Amino acid sequence: MPYLLALDEGTSSARAVVFDGAAQEVASSQLPVSCHYPQDGWVEQDAEEIWCAQIDVARQAIEKADIQPLQLSGIGIANQRETTIVWERSSGKPVGPAIVWQCRRSSNLCRRLIDAGHAAMVTQHTGLLLDPYFCATKIRWILDHLPDGQARADAGDLLFGTVDSWLVYKLTAGRSHVIDVTNASRTLLLNLDSRDWDNEMLSLFDVPRPMLPRLVPSTGDLARTDASVLGAEVPIGGIAGDQQAALFGQACFRAGLSKNTYGTGCFMLMHVGDSPVASGNRLLSTLAASRKSERAYALEGSVFVAGAAIQWLRDSLGLLTKAAESEQLAQSVADTGGVYFVPAFVGLGAPHWNPSARGLIAGLTRSATRAHIVRAALEAMAYQTRELVEAMQADAQSPISELRADGGAAGNGFLMQFQADILGIPVVRPAYTETTALGAAFLAGLAADVWNGLDQVESFWKTDRRFEPAMPASKREQLFSGWKEALARTR
Ligand code: ADP
Repeated sequence: MPYLLALDEGTSSARAVVFDGAAQEVASSQLPVSCHYPQDGWVEQDAEEIWCAQIDVARQAIEKADIQPLQLSGIGIANQRETTIVWERSSGKPVGPAIVWQCRRSSNLCRRLIDAGHAAMVTQHTGLLLDPYFCATKIRWILDHLPDGQARADAGDLLFGTVDSWLVYKLTAGRSHVIDVTNASRTLLLNLDSRDWDNEMLSLFDVPRPMLPRLVPSTGDLARTDASVLGAEVPIGGIAGDQQAALFGQACFRAGLSKNTYGTGCFMLMHVGDSPVASGNRLLSTLAASRKSERAYALEGSVFVAGAAIQWLRDSLGLLTKAAESEQLAQSVADTGGVYFVPAFVGLGAPHWNPSARGLIAGLTRSATRAHIVRAALEAMAYQTRELVEAMQADAQSPISELRADGGAAGNGFLMQFQADILGIPVVRPAYTETTALGAAFLAGLAADVWNGLDQVESFWKTDRRFEPAMPASKREQLFSGWKEALARTR
């Protein structure tokens, strides 16, 4: 029986999952990874801690699965994206903390570049926005704050990598310095069309070529672990950014298929086929995971606060004892009684990108109860997702026929049904919801010929439940227009 090891390095934890040749989970292990907030808006992690947690859980999962590392046909990596690490070529030591995707420290630099008129060109080349979220201005910040940073990078003393690059570097004992194309598509340095480093972007951000990792596809013979790390040389056959891995794990291999992850925030990706789609609705245009000879692109939209609003009701207002209780509470009332909750705690993400919006609860009357407010928080996830779906359909000029759901809050049956109702299309929840790890395993299994192609991989993706829309169209539009009114008041 072949086995595959998926490494899922998220922002809050590192997970490892062993899958068998039928893509069934055999064992898994998870450890938290700490985040540091040294200043307002700054978010950092320790790259060594990320590595130690990841390799620990990998060893634990192998042990729990009761297999030998030699039995692994391959390793697949899925990782938090955009988080930026710079380390020394000579020592392999990071020159400072990993700057996490959420970190806003390069806001001023972005503002200066936008004021200088570069925003449209950056979007045209990369599909992204000139925002601190992405790697390039984070690299710039590191080089500007390190003694002789620029000179050392020019001389090839310093290496840049995203978390996939860093993990592969450590897994190969420093022999491989690579980045997969999906992670590279989040750096602001990759040309979306050619899928190669973009000279104009490198010169705009003054990022020296010698520090860049080698570009590799998301699946193939990408690298091989050093025997000292796991006790055997194991091929690394799959690498993708976490959201792209989840899109792959949801078997969204063709244009028009889309998934939405309902976690702390929402991340929706739609496969758009073999050429990029420029967004007219402030979505991101990005690469999807694909095999070497194939080109695959996606549109992406993210909502900053989704499940986190439920967390807030639980932890800050004490309206819930646990997140899952929200389902029964929401179902205990027929509707929200006109209450809308717009959780714009940190501004609004796609398609609005409004950093100064703030949250509100609107439509309160004396008869509003905690059940109405909790229900409004769940409904907010569905309304925000509808905004993404509408933007995607407009950009792709094709309708979305169903939405595949995953993430912690996808376990909420009320939310899934309301989502189908408010979209007017079915929402499908898969039987196995750890789609990020599954996607990494799919990529590694294809590389190792454990599976012979996408059709076989697709056969492993099974439906748990399909939520069909049941709400009359007039009701759906009336509710959604109420949402838009509440939304307008947050600005
Ligand atoms: P992440 O990977 O972003 O940390 P998860 O996918 O683990 O998040 O989902 C956790 C989030 O989903 C939390 O914000 C939590 O409040 C929310 N959540 C979890 N279970 C439910 C549920 N049954 N109903 C509503 N929200 C939930």
